Amino acid sequence: MEQRVFNFSAGPAGLPLAALQEAQRDLLVYPGAGASIMEISHRSKAFEPVLQSARDNITQLLNIPSNYKVLFLQGGASMQFSQIPMNFLRGTGKSADYILTGAWGAKAIKEAKKEGATRTVWSGKEEGYKRVPAQSELDLDANASYCHFTTNETIEGVQFQTEPEVGTVPLVCDMSSDFLSRTFDVTKYALIYAGAQKNIGPAGVVAVIIRDDMLAKVPDGLPSMLDYKLAADNDSMYNTPPCFAIYIVALVTKWLINDIGGLDKVDARNREKAKYIYDAIDNSDGYYRGHAQKDCRSLMNPTWRLPNEELEAKFVKEAKAASMDGLKGHRSVGGIRASIYNAMPVDGCKALAEFMAEFAKKNG
Ligand SMILES: *Cc1c(COP(=O)(O)O)cnc(C)c1O
Repeated sequence: MEQRVFNFSAGPAGLPLAALQEAQRDLLVYPGAGASIMEISHRSKAFEPVLQSARDNITQLLNIPSNYKVLFLQGGASMQFSQIPMNFLRGTGKSADYILTGAWGAKAIKEAKKEGATRTVWSGKEEGYKRVPAQSELDLDANASYCHFTTNETIEGVQFQTEPEVGTVPLVCDMSSDFLSRTFDVTKYALIYAGAQKNIGPAGVVAVIIRDDMLAKVPDGLPSMLDYKLAADNDSMYNTPPCFAIYIVALVTKWLINDIGGLDKVDARNREKAKYIYDAIDNSDGYYRGHAQKDCRSLMNPTWRLPNEELEAKFVKEAKAASMDGLKGHRSVGGIRASIYNAMPVDGCKALAEFMAEFAKKNG
């Protein structure tokens, strides 16, 4: 078999080997089903516990209270950019607050504007999306229908360390690129959504955690597939769910619980991983220049520049030759981005940090 590389892809991203191996083992015959999990009814005795375990694992990892529902939806995180304002902004006569810290937040605002009034309560755009705002910089509306932010801006590598304080306004969050990567308090949120393909599974499914009082606000007359209440009332099975993607989410979350040891351990491990890379940046005498302001650095997507674009291209090429792939930064930021989601082993970050030191010595 060909060797697997250290995969620094931004998404879809690496998956834990243990989960892939289990899926491979059970690919042709899922135990008790006599067929692949892809080949059986989503209403079968074999599949229902799979969805249930994906839900239970997420509930356990995040200690989610009983007044929240965990849903599995489709359409990517990008569909949530529309679904949220369709359910909670359209026709309310209120406006929605958006905190803008990067490219994904900008897309969320673009879709929300189609549904109603929005206010951008802080924007990092002029500064090139290098940081998140201080609480005192937020121009919040106490009467907003909700306040939306992006915990981790995947392209720029800028991450909130704690959630903004928004009083009684429902806090809504795109957690696509740092979901289940660190500990946080679910009860601060009204709605959390995350595309699976960064941290918890393959593309094709979005995890949504929604508080019951939000479900009660869902208006009548929405398209069925965009109605959170209908999804919740039908346990995410109003129509055929993305069975295989949910199955992989169940395996990845089981790995987080059993192999890594729960979210505290996941959190500590991800901090250790990111430290290797940020130390390599900070100890390079300015050869590597981090994009994000230090106190807003992402634990998931460190981004940095080299002295020039030629050296950046050389860095990416030589890293690839050394079995470290996917390091080219997004074209809007340039430079290097190392996406080091949950599945990236500590050894991958260690190897990259060593490569960085070597490369700077040779090409400095
Ligand atoms: C990847 C990503 C998205 C888009 O996800 P899709 O599933 O492709 O729609 C949205 N927000 C963030 C923060 C992301 O990282």
